[in-house]
Formats: sequence, C-alpha cells, structure tokens
Amino acid sequence: MSTGLKNGKLHTINIYSIKLILFYLLLISVAASGSDNKNEKGWVIVIDAGHGGKDSGARGSFSQEKDITLAVALKTGEYIEQNIKNVTVIYTRKNDTFIELKERANIANKNNADLFISIHANWAKSKNVNGAETFIMGIAKDEANLEVAKKENEVMLLENDFSTKYEGFDPKSSESYIMFSLSQKVFHEQSTDLASKIQTQFRDRLNRNDRDVKQAGFWVLYTTKMPSVLVETGFITSPVEEKYLNSKEGQDNIASSIFRACSEYINEIDSKSVGLSGRNSNPQTSEDTLPHLNTSSGETMFMVQIASSSSQTEIKAENFKGLKEVIELNGQDWFKYATGRFSEFSAAVNYRKKLKDIYPDAFVIAVKDNKIVPLQQALDQKKTK
Ligand SMILES: [Zn+2]
Repeated sequence: MSTGLKNGKLHTINIYSIKLILFYLLLISVAASGSDNKNEKGWVIVIDAGHGGKDSGARGSFSQEKDITLAVALKTGEYIEQNIKNVTVIYTRKNDTFIELKERANIANKNNADLFISIHANWAKSKNVNGAETFIMGIAKDEANLEVAKKENEVMLLENDFSTKYEGFDPKSSESYIMFSLSQKVFHEQSTDLASKIQTQFRDRLNRNDRDVKQAGFWVLYTTKMPSVLVETGFITSPVEEKYLNSKEGQDNIASSIFRACSEYINEIDSKSVGLSGRNSNPQTSEDTLPHLNTSSGETMFMVQIASSSSQTEIKAENFKGLKEVIELNGQDWFKYATGRFSEFSAAVNYRKKLKDIYPDAFVIAVKDNKIVPLQQALDQKKTK
C-alpha cells in the first residue's frame, strides 16, 4: 500500500492488478455458479439435425435433406427452450457443417442428455410414398425399415477411415446389422413412448399420414445412452411433401409437434415421481448405500424402476451404470429392472432422487412377490393398514 501511494506508476499498476484480481474473482464465481447450475440442470435435450456440409442427405427435386433437417431442428429447439421450464437444448450442429455420425451420439453422451432426437427426411423410389415415421433402435422387422437405416447409416462412408471407427461395420451389408441385436435395449420403453407421442402429434394435430413407430439399426441411435428417437419427418421425394417440408408452415408444424411430444413426455415422467424437484448431483452407486434386497416378503414394497426392455439384460453392475443390487421383473414380452426396496413410498422417492443423474427417467413402482402392482393401489393399501 505504501509503495503504491508514493509512486504514481506503481499505484496505477496496483489498481490495475486489483481490477484484474476482481475480474478473476468474478470469473471464478461465474464458473462456480455455472457448475452449481449444472447440478440442477433439469432436462437436457440433444437435437440432431441429420446430415450437413458435404453430406446433403436425400435430395428432392429442388431441395436437400440437410437444409430441411437443420431448419426443423433449430425451430424444435426454439419451441422447447421457450416453452418448457428447466430444460437445456444442445444442438449437434447449428449450421451447414459435416458432423460424423459417431460424434452426434458422443455429443449427447458427453452432455449426459436425457433425450436424443435426430431429425431427418425420408426418400423413396416412388413419388407417391408419403408420411412421417419415427424410428427407435432395434431390429428392422422388414426390408423397407432396414433400407431406411442403411440409407441413413451410409453417410459414414463419407468419413475418413470409417471402417476402423465403426468397428468394421458395413452400412450396406444386411449381415452387419445383426450386431445391433446384441445391443442393450435399456431405453426401449422410453424411446417407444416418446416416438409414439411424436407420431400421435403428426397424425392428430397435423393430419399427416402416420407411418407409425418403427425399429431399425441406426448407428446414431446405437451408441446413445439415453432414450433416443430418429424422426423421418416426411418424404423429400414426394412433390407435395417436399413443398411442405420446405415451407415455413410445414417446418413450424413439425417442430411444434416434436416439442409438444417432448413436453408431454417430460410432464409424465416428472409427475410419476411425485414431490421431487431438481436433481441430486451425488448419485450413490456403491453397494453399501443400498438396502439389502429381501425378496421373500410377500408384502408390497416400493422400488425404483431404472430400465425396461424387450430383451433380457444380464444383471451385473456394468450393465446398470454401477448399480449392484438390481432385480429383474418380467412379463410376457418385457423385462423391467428395478433397484432399492423400501416399505415406505417416501423412502423410494428419496432413493429415486439419488439416482436421477444416472437414471433421469427412473420412477417409483410398487412390487409384490416380484410382480409390479399399480402404484395407487399399493399406496391405498399402505394407508388403510
Ligand atoms: Zn437422413
């Protein structure tokens, strides 16, 4: 202080240094508050505009798929950001750039997204084929669905060294697609749910030809670790739909439909977990934090359902993000996976909160003798006891 006052030059340097220090303190506090916010980040939705840059996607008579997907993606994100509270939208691209297929899924995984929505436009040989369809990851039930996936996966051929990057996968060969049958379909149910909500919007609100929810092996859906869908918004090869897909009205309608479906989906999941707000940043995944599973109670217990699938998943920690005590509940054609076992509903709700960062879509269920019973029924039963 004394030197500063005696020497004019030093004095200004000191003030400058103080300003600099204050500036850094401000930066640090901004960074800190930023990370706080991330802990209570709410929903993270990744919107993936298909194709881009040197990859034009499908071509119509006057337009390219990459331009349609970008316009619809940006509008969808805008609708979501403006109308759904507590949501962060992340785009895989916001302009006409080429993004590798693998990178699209990486962006979603890196950001710990809750939903991944890939937007595309369809192609057919015949100009008469039209309508919208939404795909989820799975094994194509027919040749037509497989063809859609092949066409979308072929963009990887534009990448350098694609064979190494995609583990020898050949997007053109049907045999390659067998590998997808081994994939873990942990998010099958949630993805189907979102996909059908999107299709319902297209059908009921927009009067579009509903080509339904379908399954096929899309690489971009294969590696995402959250519920994921790929929307084929319409056929660029149909003269009527090409016009629609390129019109402001068409793009607005498609985007608002996808937004409404997301909003419904989010509301449903949030309401399934009554009394919860925000997210716990500290999921406890080690064995000793879990109550021991007691399977022979004959009593109604509350558990947290973390995943469901049409195919069986081996019960081991690495398949369930480190959770060690997971049980399988199965029905005729589904497998559900749940963890925790509580006699009090509120305890299950609290536990679900702890899992929210690793399983954002988890919810509380009631289980009796290894069978799921309606939650309301279980709650009423507990009350009258
Ligand atoms: Zn496409």
